[in-house]
Amino acid sequence: MSTDWKEGVAKHKVARQTPAVAEVPGPRPRKNRKQWCRGKVGTEHKPVCRTYAETKPTCMLAKDDGSAFRTADWRILVCTTCGKELDHYYPLTFAGSDWPKRPPPTWVDK
Ligand SMILES: [Zn+2]
Repeated sequence: MSTDWKEGVAKHKVARQTPAVAEVPGPRPRKNRKQWCRGKVGTEHKPVCRTYAETKPTCMLAKDDGSAFRTADWRILVCTTCGKELDHYYPLTFAGSDWPKRPPPTWVDK
């Protein structure tokens, strides 16, 4: 009786435990654009408070017609250098509702 099959199983096991591709240089680490402006370490974002309509003039929601959402109250914290949206403030008040407004974050200045 041959034990070939046992050797085969052993080889298969080894093959499974050995990484198929060893030590391949990976892609360059992603730039941290969330923390640094344009991903350049040490460069701070220059955030400015803008209205939703200013930031997204093409969005249909930006045309606040006073019916559904009061998007005029929405604010977006945008970096003036790279354009990244750093924070959002949606009070989520509905026209005609008396729900209490969420207090705006400190960066909301208008
Ligand atoms: Zn930036």
